[in-house]
Amino acid sequence: MMKLNGLARRYRVDDGRGFRLAVWDPGDANGLIDETSAQGLVQLSEIQERLCAQDHWAVLLILQGMDTAGKGSAARYIMSRMEPQGCQVTAFGRPSAEELDHDFMWRTTRHLPERGRIGIFRRSYYEEVLVVRVHSDILGNQRLPPKLVTRKIWKERFEDINAFERYLTRNGTLVLKFFLNLSKEEHKRRLLARLDDPTKQWKFDPESATEHQRWDDYMKAYEEMVRATATPDSPWHVIPADNRWFALLVVASAVVDAMEGLGLAAPDIGQQLQERLLSARAVLENE
Ligand code: AMP
Ligand code: MG
Repeated sequence: MMKLNGLARRYRVDDGRGFRLAVWDPGDANGLIDETSAQGLVQLSEIQERLCAQDHWAVLLILQGMDTAGKGSAARYIMSRMEPQGCQVTAFGRPSAEELDHDFMWRTTRHLPERGRIGIFRRSYYEEVLVVRVHSDILGNQRLPPKLVTRKIWKERFEDINAFERYLTRNGTLVLKFFLNLSKEEHKRRLLARLDDPTKQWKFDPESATEHQRWDDYMKAYEEMVRATATPDSPWHVIPADNRWFALLVVASAVVDAMEGLGLAAPDIGQQLQERLLSARAVLENE
């Protein structure tokens, strides 16, 4: 069985300064695309058990990427070996009227994972520097006081996000961010495949085609996002996403590495419980 450790290291960005998206190959598969290596996920479920038993740390996984990049499959894959009660997935789409009546962190904050649990965000407050940046009319509808909407707004949002993530980290939430880096060609191919398949058409967002046309603007926004918000405490992983299975493995590997870094020992059950377990064994064996 393949161990997942280390696979993700070369895709991790700890310091975003100077980050250039153009040198990251969405088609990279590091020489392996092999479904059977998915068995390495057993590691994940063991670590989750310890996370839950210790009940000190929370883990937040943020999945970002264009439509069809594989955010849903990544969430499903990570969840597939987890105790369902220890893991929750939240998807963030276009904000509701109620959500727009609050600051931009409000809706995500309510879904942060509690200690001992893993929370997966499918999209997140990062949309505020992605889709909102690419489509300036969205910003216009956010009902911000006009004098606060200046050219500095993206820089300010980056600062606020960094401050927020540092706050989470200092309070015991491990924040790991994943950019599923799809190529423009593969994006087009997947959108057309969705259109061609009657069972998948319901998933097709008619706006995806327009988003495809804005590809370069999106990539620029993603690049600046990584530059401004990749830090040692909450790194971005730039995941080559053209090969679905490889992307899933790298995400899982990054999660395993980071969670192992927390040093979660198996919980100490204490002498009293130890003694009670011994007598329980005696009861069973003497029956
Ligand atoms: P999906 O993830 O396919 O359900 O699509 C959700 C849609 O909501 C995407 O087009 C996102 O760009 C959009 N979206 C997510 N967050 C925001 C936001 N804060 N403001 C505007 N649109 C958003
Ligand atoms: Mg979608």
